[in-house]
Amino acid sequence: MESKAAVLHEPTKNHDFLGDLPAKIEMVEVSEPIGEEVLVKIEAASLCHTDVSCVVGETGEPKPVVLGHEGAGVVAAIGDEVTTLEVGDHVVLGRIACGKCIRCRMGKSNLCLSRRQSKGTLRTGDTSFTGSNGDPYYHYHGVSSFTEYTNVTQEVAIKVNKKIPLEQATLLGCGIFTGVGAVANAANIEPGSSVVIFGAGGVGLSGVQGAVLRGATEIIVVDVVPSKFDIALKMGATSTINSMEEDPVERIREITGGGADYTFDMVGHPRVFEQAVESLAVSGTAVLVGTPSTPVNEVSINLREMVKNEKRIIGAFNGSYNLPIAIPMLADLVVEGKLSLEELITSSLPLDNINEAMHQLENGAEIRQVIVP
Ligand SMILES: [Zn+2]
Ligand SMILES: [Zn+2]
Repeated sequence: MESKAAVLHEPTKNHDFLGDLPAKIEMVEVSEPIGEEVLVKIEAASLCHTDVSCVVGETGEPKPVVLGHEGAGVVAAIGDEVTTLEVGDHVVLGRIACGKCIRCRMGKSNLCLSRRQSKGTLRTGDTSFTGSNGDPYYHYHGVSSFTEYTNVTQEVAIKVNKKIPLEQATLLGCGIFTGVGAVANAANIEPGSSVVIFGAGGVGLSGVQGAVLRGATEIIVVDVVPSKFDIALKMGATSTINSMEEDPVERIREITGGGADYTFDMVGHPRVFEQAVESLAVSGTAVLVGTPSTPVNEVSINLREMVKNEKRIIGAFNGSYNLPIAIPMLADLVVEGKLSLEELITSSLPLDNINEAMHQLENGAEIRQVIVP
């Protein structure tokens, strides 16, 4: 089947994504599903920083690669070994988990072993795209969603409630579970807790909603972009701190009367992490959620404080969720009106404008952008 797709042939060195238009829009051939494969008609595909990392050559996929790793659509056809899906099902696509390794079988699919060794193919080692010159085109994160159709292995497509708009469902393929799950699952906060979220991007704002869901009474959001505070307050934050204007640690101690029960570094910056630890109350927990872009080997933490006041530090990856179970659960919360994704979508663009979308992501105050093939 023919499909219009955004393809990267060569990574770009030009970080504004406008000069040499790194992503080419072209027609590719998508193979019919065999075995455990499912053919999905993509209705919406969201853009995230990981896509930009691919385009600037920071990830190792062989090229040419069909871009995009978050999407939502409708199952158009299935292979004869598919057990989890039927034609017509609505699915969220994401680099979910293999479902077969030891960690997946233990319910720790967020730490799936094979997900971390993606080499531009499906789990089976095949690729389902062919360029007009007859060459194989590779998958990004075993998905490829910036295309009208993609053909993936069944565990990459998670069935969700048909009542969730697909334009919103695509966001469930990546960052949302990271934020909601860090608060509501990994930290498992108690009702009545005081919570601080450092970083009000898509993950941070999802964290705010996780805190609301779990009955936090104080939800403080720290960021440097004031335009994000309105939406944070709308989602349930009780106060905001602009860390360019005031010392967040001092201000958090003031608001909470000594320190917060839970703090979340959604940024992954060493100084932010130190602030998250410094603003803890007695027996408080600091949760590291943002992944630093390069290894960080040194942070400054008062160890005496950690021991004497029983403070804890934990890491949370993908909300520590078992994703094939968490994604449908989060979709249901959206349908029930308990989780809001609509406000996280700051723009919606056609596939032809993919380079422009990356330009906006790198230069603007975008939260989440959705590409509509
Ligand atoms: Zn696995
Ligand atoms: Zn992503």
